[in-house]
Amino acid sequence: SFHKSKGQHILKNPMLVDTIVQKSGIKSTDTILEIGPGTGNLTKKLLEAGKLVIAVEVDPRMVLELQRRFQGTPHSSRLKVIQGDVLKTELPYFDICVANIPYQISSPLTFKLLNHQPSFRCAIIMFQREFAMRLVAQPGDKLYCRLTVNTQLLSRVFHLLKVGKNNFRPPPKVDSSVVRIEPRKPRIEVKQKEWDGFLRICFNRKNKTLGAIFRQKNVLSLLEKNYKTLQALNLSVGNNRDADMGSLRLGNANEVETMEMETEMDDDDDGADDEMDVEDGDAEGETSEFKNKVLAVLKEGNFEDKRSSKLKLEEFLYLLSLFNKAGIHFS
Ligand code: SAM
Repeated sequence: SFHKSKGQHILKNPMLVDTIVQKSGIKSTDTILEIGPGTGNLTKKLLEAGKLVIAVEVDPRMVLELQRRFQGTPHSSRLKVIQGDVLKTELPYFDICVANIPYQISSPLTFKLLNHQPSFRCAIIMFQREFAMRLVAQPGDKLYCRLTVNTQLLSRVFHLLKVGKNNFRPPPKVDSSVVRIEPRKPRIEVKQKEWDGFLRICFNRKNKTLGAIFRQKNVLSLLEKNYKTLQALNLSVGNNRDADMGSLRLGNANEVETMEMETEMDDDDDGADDEMDVEDGDAEGETSEFKNKVLAVLKEGNFEDKRSSKLKLEEFLYLLSLFNKAGIHFS
């Protein structure tokens, strides 16, 4: 019997398995990382297409079944099975990743893969339909969110295939989609904490104008605190420039953070301005001076009336660079 908690929904449609393998563009020289091989329906086709399959499977019963299935076949020497939780496993080198995963690990797995070095050619992954649509969303789409921008910073994502629930046994509750994720080469370098802090604020209400978001008292006081700390430390942008450039690796701390993303994704702000928007910090003179500094940055880049739900990746990068140039930091 299958474990619901491990998301064990086995692909039962052989044509679909073939289609996924065909669309993966596997070369005969490829080392393939398969995550969650289960009983091995996909594994079999991957072994036929590539050079080596390294399969990570958490369930020891599935590992046994997999080994039994390929024992004594010509493929067995080209299959390596690692028993363990993929999120806790150090990943080996691979050219391409193919995975039909349990959907609860979608977000942390995506970021684990995208931060793996050396980076791979592409990953072909089955996700819950809505998660997949968030990954491929464009500015202005309803599902465009922080997850989208974070993923697109590190990769390009393409929708490959819609998969109905009845292709699985037992059928899951939701429809699925297969996407192709290609890591950007070269990477777009950002200071990870700075970028993350910035995007969290921008998407805290994604349909509000940035002018309204950056007028919020809690946002201003956080930024002013950072500003003063940095000034006290005499760490202006000028003399710590490039300090963390290139240190883009995400550790375990980020796995936790990316998991949070899923719960924050449902920002169904209708865009209507509510009372938080008109709140202002003019009561305290100092805050008002800092507030003007922040608003001047927004004005400089013409961002005041724009909304995160419609901003392109390049615009987020540009706005963050303007803030940093003005000595305003998010971490
Ligand atoms: N690939 C098979 C197929 O397409 O028929 C099975 C897919 S099933 C949706 C997900 C598989 O991932 C199960 O075999 C499950 O035991 C395994 N799994 C669940 N969580 C995992 C984790 N954290 N690390 C590795 N494997 C995991």
